[in-house]
Amino acid sequence: MSCTHVTLSTGQMIPSVGLGTWKSIPAQVKQAILAALDSGYRHIDCAAAYGNEENVGEALRERVGPGKSLKREELFLTSKLWNTQHHPDDVEAACRRSLTHLGVSYLDLYLMHWPMAFERGSVMMPSNADGSIRYADTHYIDTWKAMEMLVDQGLVKAIGMSNFNARQTDLILSIARHKPAVNQVECHPFLTQQQLLTHCRDRGVAVVAYSPLGSPNRPWASPGEPALMEDLRIIDIARRYGKTAAQIIIRWHVQRGIICIPKSVTPARIQQNLQVFDFQLTDEDMKLIESFNRNERFIPPTVEKGGKKYRDGLHPHFPFHDPY
Ligand code: NAP
Repeated sequence: MSCTHVTLSTGQMIPSVGLGTWKSIPAQVKQAILAALDSGYRHIDCAAAYGNEENVGEALRERVGPGKSLKREELFLTSKLWNTQHHPDDVEAACRRSLTHLGVSYLDLYLMHWPMAFERGSVMMPSNADGSIRYADTHYIDTWKAMEMLVDQGLVKAIGMSNFNARQTDLILSIARHKPAVNQVECHPFLTQQQLLTHCRDRGVAVVAYSPLGSPNRPWASPGEPALMEDLRIIDIARRYGKTAAQIIIRWHVQRGIICIPKSVTPARIQQNLQVFDFQLTDEDMKLIESFNRNERFIPPTVEKGGKKYRDGLHPHFPFHDPY
């Protein structure tokens, strides 16, 4: 059955389902990657900010390379540039650090994790005494130009954006020498992103859905918040197809032509999440799931301290003030 891959504007084929690694703690992520590669995953989504790329690298060293079960070319590997490394002088070193940690000589895709620059340095969340984040004034256009040099040098095959809105996407497209291959954004049945999806597609930018299962283990989830995989309407559809809620949601993503990167460290779930190519949702069920949209974002968090709310909404390039 089709939909196993999406072709990017660069001509690269990216597997429609990859393994996410955010919140996969170092002690668990190596086994998760090994389980994923052994069950057929060929797409891994990483980021410097997840703090586990060295452990991902340990697994890759066991399975990928000369004399191992997989050739490097068979794998699609993504990493991301963190907000504290946006200054053009910091970009190449940050990319090389990810390459070293992962133990590879190139990335298939390197994303700007957010359009917002934070204060330069090794502290991931540089903050003031009151908990608010210390920002930097590097514009994402200048960061993009530095990322383009990584393509020129052969360190990465393609570059892309993450968490960019439509206006920011267009600004990058208007100046790009190397066009963004993807925009990786939060997307699931409670946040279907139809307008952004159409906008990106019309411009040849593929969309990667992050938190595709609704990120039930996001650190700031509070009791009573809606849990996508426990939604009775999804469970009802799953029963009808003899599949799990996760499989229904992942199948919905791939049938929309979206790439998605469900995270799991549980081998049985890792396997299950890839078993979505042996059935098809009807048009009615695709539309039904689409109708669950509530434009609800789970990411990023709102931080409350001393009765005040802090979030990156104060940053001049915060992406989510625009309608899409
Ligand atoms: P997610 O993939 O929507 O959900 C992950 C959670 O679902 C984990 O708790 C996992 O549990 C559970 N799960 C996975 N498969 C399941 C199944 N078949 N049945 C029941 N539960 C299942 O959440 P996410 O981690 O937020 O997003 C996925 C990936 O997107 C991230 O890991 C990261 O790579 C990427 N991401 C990118 C950004 C960005 O800013 N670009 C932001 C967020 C996420 P177990 O692990 O315990 O099995």
